[in-house]
Amino acid sequence: MARKVSEKTSSSVITLNNVGMTYAGSNGVRALNGINLKIEQGEFVFIVGDSGSGKSTLIKLLLRELVSTEGEIIVDGYNLNRLRHRKIPKFRRSIGVVFQDFRLLKDRNVYENVAFAQRIIQKSNKEIKRNVPSILSIVGLAGKYKAKPRHLSGGEQQRVAIARALVNKPAILLCDEPTGNLDPKNTWDIMKLLEQVNEQGTTVIVVTHNREIVNAMQKRVITLKRGVIISDEEKGVYIDED
Ligand code: ADP
Repeated sequence: MARKVSEKTSSSVITLNNVGMTYAGSNGVRALNGINLKIEQGEFVFIVGDSGSGKSTLIKLLLRELVSTEGEIIVDGYNLNRLRHRKIPKFRRSIGVVFQDFRLLKDRNVYENVAFAQRIIQKSNKEIKRNVPSILSIVGLAGKYKAKPRHLSGGEQQRVAIARALVNKPAILLCDEPTGNLDPKNTWDIMKLLEQVNEQGTTVIVVTHNREIVNAMQKRVITLKRGVIISDEEKGVYIDED
């Protein structure tokens, strides 16, 4: 089976066609319904919505941790509904992921945390020695490469996580509440870093509850409610709950 579909026929890096997701189980919760979405290469997109609106389900579908029960999802040319198990690791290199709780290796220093991502994909030591310092200087941590995570601030730890997510040069950076554990100053610094990463061409998707950030940044905002997209606006704002 072909690894990729529709090479170069579209600039969309993510396409969802009529996607639905019903969780198996006694009451069969319908978490997403009739989702149609296109995200172009190089876009910066916020995904917002109340708790239970389907954001985590959407993230899990995009990462191919779940397979949609309806419709079709294409990410970076991979049709996720048809993707074979053995192709999943390769596909996952298309997406760098950043979480609210950083998820760093606590007993490894900054350099090793980032190098680890390169070792998984079997980069040579020579490449690792070139790529890791380069990405650490982009995130502003070149001077702290020997530090262990516990000696870093929350903002610095999130920078390490962003460096780790980016070092393998994914097409998409997916951030799940990236500033949820940060104070306002670090929140803004991280958002500026994500904007800078986006300006270099990476598609950035940020799931957040931070109304102030969403309203200030003037990016595309997709709002989910009870499993459907209720709004998708260029230069959007955080829509108040009714
Ligand atoms: P959000 O991330 O916006 O809070 P979720 O995607 O976690 O929303 O949840 C959407 C809906 O799907 C909710 O009704 C939730 O209870 C349900 N849900 C989420 N995960 C599961 C699961 N593993 N099994 C059954 N229902 C689930």
